[in-house]
Amino acid sequence: MNTQPTASHFINGAYVEDKSGEEIPVIYPATGEVIATLYAATPAIIEQALAAAEAAQKEWASWTGTERGRVLRRAADIMRERNHDLSVLETFDTGKPYQETSVVDATSGADALEYFGGLAAAITGEHIQLGENFVYTRREPVGLCVGIGAWNYPTQIACWKAAPALACGNTMVFKPSETTPLCALKVAEILFEAGAPAGVYNVIQGYGAVGAALVTDRRVDKVSLTGSVPTGRKVYAAAAEGIRHVTMELGGKSPLVIFDDANLENAVSGAILGNFYSSGQVCSNGTRVFVQSGIKDAFLERLTERLKGVKMGDPQDPEVNYGPMVSERQLGIVEGFIEKGIAEGARLVTGGKRVDRPGFYIEPTVFADVTDEMTIATDEIFGPVMSVLSFETEEEVLPRANATEFGLSAGVFTADLTRAHRMVAGFEAGTCYINTYNDAPVEAPFGGSKLSGVGRENSKAAIEHYSQIKGVFVRMGDLEAPF
Ligand code: NDP
Repeated sequence: MNTQPTASHFINGAYVEDKSGEEIPVIYPATGEVIATLYAATPAIIEQALAAAEAAQKEWASWTGTERGRVLRRAADIMRERNHDLSVLETFDTGKPYQETSVVDATSGADALEYFGGLAAAITGEHIQLGENFVYTRREPVGLCVGIGAWNYPTQIACWKAAPALACGNTMVFKPSETTPLCALKVAEILFEAGAPAGVYNVIQGYGAVGAALVTDRRVDKVSLTGSVPTGRKVYAAAAEGIRHVTMELGGKSPLVIFDDANLENAVSGAILGNFYSSGQVCSNGTRVFVQSGIKDAFLERLTERLKGVKMGDPQDPEVNYGPMVSERQLGIVEGFIEKGIAEGARLVTGGKRVDRPGFYIEPTVFADVTDEMTIATDEIFGPVMSVLSFETEEEVLPRANATEFGLSAGVFTADLTRAHRMVAGFEAGTCYINTYNDAPVEAPFGGSKLSGVGRENSKAAIEHYSQIKGVFVRMGDLEAPF
């Protein structure tokens, strides 16, 4: 596959290049080889993109919801038809195995386009009768939106932001992470091909400075970021300057609580999915695995056995189920946390080492006897490192599960249904799971509480975050005034 895109940016319905921008080498994480070279947006490119999105917005918003929805649904169909090529590209961009990308990335992107395409015609205001007078509300677009993405799910993140934004009649300038710049360009190409007018969805590349320039531009009405908490703080503060709307999808350190009565095999599956899928580079991962003491030994034994099923190798090989870290830098961060875990006295059950092969591979790693205050139990690692902590009672584990500044996700495995719902009611997290982990269907709201974020993506809830309500008071009779 030719991984070098036609040009670095997609603006106003066309690929655009400006080689005077800072070079962005795209590295295939499985080999460390440069597979494409792009250029960061210069001030002129940033201006072109914002001007195009601003110019297109009013006309796009004047289309009926049905018409806008039709474009999104057509884009969903194209994405599904091209799923193979898009998945291969996603694997080159991120290093995630094709076995994952072929069923998760373009497909979940297509789901979002289809879902919000279907919803677009149903975005309406309401009527409130007040005697003979009445109020009606208009649900209007926010305007020009900026999307900024992380590197772990570049296609999905681009679609999760584009689909609700465009359904509501907004336009968007999207900046992918410079680590994974390839996939969002395909999303832009497909939306344009599906009939989105030029300027409705634009992609420009760049490092943090390009994101910062977008967020502070006076024409921008909303910013949606998927990224880390430190970046979230900066972007939120910059958006506050212009009182802009924000959605913040940030990091996590989520608890996964496994009770003695849980189905062991399912609980182990949940812990694997919540720690090692995408080599652990998933924001909602349940990396603090609290296991009740009665099942702990059996859990660790079965988990270790199941990890023998890990198949590393060329991620483009459909048999391979475990890929590299996205970058040398991320690999280094993960190695640093593993060293800290050992130094602070956690017991290394399995893994812990860089794999002796090209690329940025590290073994799936499990620590047991982890205590609440150890660094590996408090900090987001964003890699394949599971911390197993033990507990005795429900009363004890819930406050421990909540004792984190993050609040993205939380899960519980138990056969006791009332306990499951009690736990979920007590979790301080935006997205919870009972006897499963990390499902993210477009129909369900996704997002965090506490430091993990503001706002929700997916589901009907996302409409609230990409539209605003105008209240209109209508008087039927004469109007009295004091003088
Ligand atoms: P970063 O926070 O480093 O970067 C996110 C994006 O913001 C990148 O495109 C980055 O550009 C850009 N950026 C950096 N600085 C600024 C700035 N000052 N102004 C505007 N934009 C800026 O996150 P990562 O890419 O490293 O992704 C990992 C993080 O994302 C983890 O914390 C993870 O938990 C979180 N995440 C959250 C998800 C969620 O839905 N809650 C989903 C996926 C990931 P550049 O890369 O060029 O610096």
